[in-house]
Amino acid sequence: MTSPGDMADADAVVIGAGSNGLVAANHLADRGWNVIVLEATSWPGGAVRSSELVEPGFVADHCSAFYPLAAGSRALLDLRLEDHGLRWVHSPQVLAHPHADGTCPVLSRDLDTTATSLDMLGPGDGDAWRALYQRWVDLEPHLLDTFLAPMPPVRGASQLVRRIGPKELARFARFCLLPVRRMGEEEFVGDGAKRLLAGAALHADMSPEAALSGFLGWLLCSLGQGVGFPVPEGGAQSVTSALVRRLDAIGGRVLCDSAVGRVVVERGRAVGVELADGSPVRARRAVVADVNAPMLYLELVGADLLPPKVVADIRRFHWDDATFKVDWTLDGPIPWSASEARMAGTVHVTEGVDALTVTASELARGLVPRDPFLLVGQQSMTDPTRQPAGKETAWAYTHVPRRIRGDAGCELTGDWGKDDVARFASRMETKIEALAPGFRSLVRGRYVQSPLGFQAENPNSDLGAISGGTSQLHQQLVFRPIPGLGRADTPIKGLFLGSSSAHPGGGLHGAAGRNAAQAAVAADRRATVISRVRRRT
Ligand SMILES: Cc1cc2nc3c(=O)[nH]c(=O)nc-3n(C[C@H](O)[C@H](O)[C@H](O)COP(=O)(O)OP(=O)(O)OC[C@H]3O[C@@H](n4cnc5c(N)ncnc54)[C@H](O)[C@@H]3O)c2cc1C
Repeated sequence: MTSPGDMADADAVVIGAGSNGLVAANHLADRGWNVIVLEATSWPGGAVRSSELVEPGFVADHCSAFYPLAAGSRALLDLRLEDHGLRWVHSPQVLAHPHADGTCPVLSRDLDTTATSLDMLGPGDGDAWRALYQRWVDLEPHLLDTFLAPMPPVRGASQLVRRIGPKELARFARFCLLPVRRMGEEEFVGDGAKRLLAGAALHADMSPEAALSGFLGWLLCSLGQGVGFPVPEGGAQSVTSALVRRLDAIGGRVLCDSAVGRVVVERGRAVGVELADGSPVRARRAVVADVNAPMLYLELVGADLLPPKVVADIRRFHWDDATFKVDWTLDGPIPWSASEARMAGTVHVTEGVDALTVTASELARGLVPRDPFLLVGQQSMTDPTRQPAGKETAWAYTHVPRRIRGDAGCELTGDWGKDDVARFASRMETKIEALAPGFRSLVRGRYVQSPLGFQAENPNSDLGAISGGTSQLHQQLVFRPIPGLGRADTPIKGLFLGSSSAHPGGGLHGAAGRNAAQAAVAADRRATVISRVRRRT
């Protein structure tokens, strides 16, 4: 990392050292650009960060923790972060979904294990999953290339269409648009696969009845089947550290405690930024913003420099739900009654698809869920570097409304004050205790992040929204972040949006960062050609 004295100007200024900002910076520096990354907080990483959050000797992930998309994304794979100290580890099973009735379907990297588990809850469901997973195998990597590339994803999409075949195209499009409830009903007889798919879809702000939720569930479960839900040894910070080390090795610079106050625009072109303390940093070729779209457009650029239609669109930007998260340090592993859940790095805690529909309906009506859907991570299971021998760490997050109109559990005020936070954390713990009697007695310490806590820690976070904007269909692809081309370009020349607010959205895949870097390079090339032609004529 660099110090304030080193800062003068650069080919590119990247605002924000989140994963997307660091990926953008690495891709630009690989092309020989001189890059400086300005980070508002005292640490790089944004939502990819870990530290001894709860107590010394126990490493906890502040936000994200397990990374199926990272294992399939060229934007990250091409950076070869393993050469910069990153090591991925896997839990014995990928994902489990225990139920009070004792059943517990699992997703395993071993296809036979997954199939056997699903067959136990619905005879024939093992083969049904094999068929669905085979569809993934046949289409991947064209599918991921299409999904993660900038719009229009010409190369990936044409390969995908060729692979699917014209006769099957409409059928496949229908499959992708299915709500996850419907997909489960069409493909499976038992509850196991339905629970796994629907729970996976609801990692993001979907309801089981939302168009595209089936695709999201299938995507995450297929990635889990193929590459698992890997976690970085040492915690999420290891990914960030590898990105920073790599950038450092190729001459890029990261400057922390350097909040950008505004993007400097001259004659319709971004020419640099001004820090919150007023100091300028010139950008000779591009400014890439790893911050959310409303912040970039309305705060860092300003509505008066933008076309009125863009301002109107950005005011309609649809945020995803707020997030509430608890980190625990534990005197031992969570004692799940279902032995399968003791082997899985990630566990869904909810009754099933109907319960998810109730939760989604409460969220839609602004009610804090009575029975929140928990995504539990026990990442320490296969990573002994994170805690003292015999001890454990775990985390769980759940979606809560952005604007609270009431509490379906009838005990919270909705102000996320001390009492609300304690009560809701206790509601979450009660749910785990019901499936893992004795859990509470193992808790040594806890750290709770309410929506306001996320925002206090990461200025890019809006109430802890996981995906930097809804993952629903109306704000995906060419609708992300606003209706347009679905590209990183903005109405300001030389300014590119490279955060999860841009296509393809949330998750650690680095694609938004890489897409922004590619757009910056392409625009710079175009500008160079035009100025050469002008000089000649
Ligand atoms: C609770 C939670 C759990 C999640 N779990 C997972 C998971 O398990 N797996 C997964 O793949 N994804 C997960 N995600 C999503 C994933 O972490 C994010 O989509 C991704 O990390 C976003 O990266 P980003 O670079 O776009 O933004 P960020 O990580 O938010 O980075 C933006 C950076 O910009 C900085 N910044 C903001 N304003 C300024 C300014 N004015 N000047 C300078 N710097 C500024 C911020 O401090 C921050 O460092 C989770 C997210 C959350 C919140």
